[in-house]
Amino acid sequence: MKKTNFKLKKKYYIGIGTAIAAMITGLFWGNPHVAVMDSTFILHAFFLASFSFCLVLYPIFKSRIMKAVTLITASAYFYTIFFLYPDTWSTFIYICLIPAVSIFFFDSVLFYFTLILNSLFITSVFGYIMFNRQSELFFLTSQDVIGNIINFLGSQLILFVLYYVTYLRIKRQQDDYEHIQQSERIKTAGQLAAAVAHEIRNPLTVVKGFLQLYEQDSSYNEETKKHFALMIDELNTAEKVISQFLTLSAPSKEVNMEKIKVKESLYSVTGLLHSYGLLHANQIKLEVEEECLIAANQMEFKQLCINLIKNAIEASEDGDSVLVRAKRVKKNVEISVIDYGKGMSETEIQSLGTPFYSLKSKGTGLGLMICFNIVKKYKGTIRFQSVKEKGTTVTIQFPLYEDTV
Ligand code: ADP
Ligand code: MG
Repeated sequence: MKKTNFKLKKKYYIGIGTAIAAMITGLFWGNPHVAVMDSTFILHAFFLASFSFCLVLYPIFKSRIMKAVTLITASAYFYTIFFLYPDTWSTFIYICLIPAVSIFFFDSVLFYFTLILNSLFITSVFGYIMFNRQSELFFLTSQDVIGNIINFLGSQLILFVLYYVTYLRIKRQQDDYEHIQQSERIKTAGQLAAAVAHEIRNPLTVVKGFLQLYEQDSSYNEETKKHFALMIDELNTAEKVISQFLTLSAPSKEVNMEKIKVKESLYSVTGLLHSYGLLHANQIKLEVEEECLIAANQMEFKQLCINLIKNAIEASEDGDSVLVRAKRVKKNVEISVIDYGKGMSETEIQSLGTPFYSLKSKGTGLGLMICFNIVKKYKGTIRFQSVKEKGTTVTIQFPLYEDTV
């Protein structure tokens, strides 16, 4: 990274050095003011020096202030030579190109600002030339002031289109790149999880097999057998979780789609959370409309809701309640999980769904990754709105049952 930076800087300085050399040559070559050293020469030299100075300093302080200062000196320089050499038409081209300097900085605000300001400024300059009878001085420009203005505005329009198209292209590339990186990470984590889950399943099966044998064995008393039954039960749950995880990490696998009554599902999920003692002193309030039906796998849908509600509870203070709302919105079912807990910043929201991203001491950082997978699988959407210290609203939407089947 450092090396490419260094190479880039070197190229920049070679380019800028050549441009400055050309401008200095322009100052001295065939310039009648050089011999007399009059105010025209001094002003020209001064603005050229300040512009060059900014260009040289720019890579060292790449701040927005530095960019703005460079732009101002560039404008000052180009406008100065436009006024100092009224009989030279080529100075007009430089003025047209002022906004291009901010294309180089790739700063939208500065670009639009310069574009508008430059257009206003040149129009007033030409107005001044036209109405104040400066035509003798600006002989070439005043031949066709209106035509010049139109040409000028045309050049600014071209710059605008150039900038805008380039901007869109780069933005799309950036988005694609981020998307690829994200799905790559999810894939890696999924494969890792699948491998681990697979390794755990085998020993579980062996242990369960022996327990089933012992359960039949009459040499154990009834009390012990009850324990065996309990152990087998727990092992069954673990197996279920593991196979679910395996289906998640292989998303292409077909799962049976069911008609899910969101209301029933949500009641059973909250019941489950109660019985696992996950609620502490928190309450879950349900506000669910009747006819919310979606098509998905029941287990996966429940897992999605459990993960979201668990996060909401974990973010809340003891005693605060969590609101779960479900309603129909056009041809979708919208489910929101609302908490009044610690919330997240914009950057935290952007990291959500990244495998192992967790701010909790005992978090796994896999919950939301699984949620994102489930939502994607059933063509739904998930959205996070959050304000730090105020709370979070997670909104998921799924297509309504009738539409999908
Ligand atoms: P885990 O819960 O194991 O940490 P998750 O993937 O479920 O993993 O969540 C990742 C992180 O996202 C959490 O550690 C937490 O910082 C943040 N988060 C998720 N939901 C909320 C919420 N409702 N409020 C505040 N932070 C949240
Ligand atoms: Mg979680």
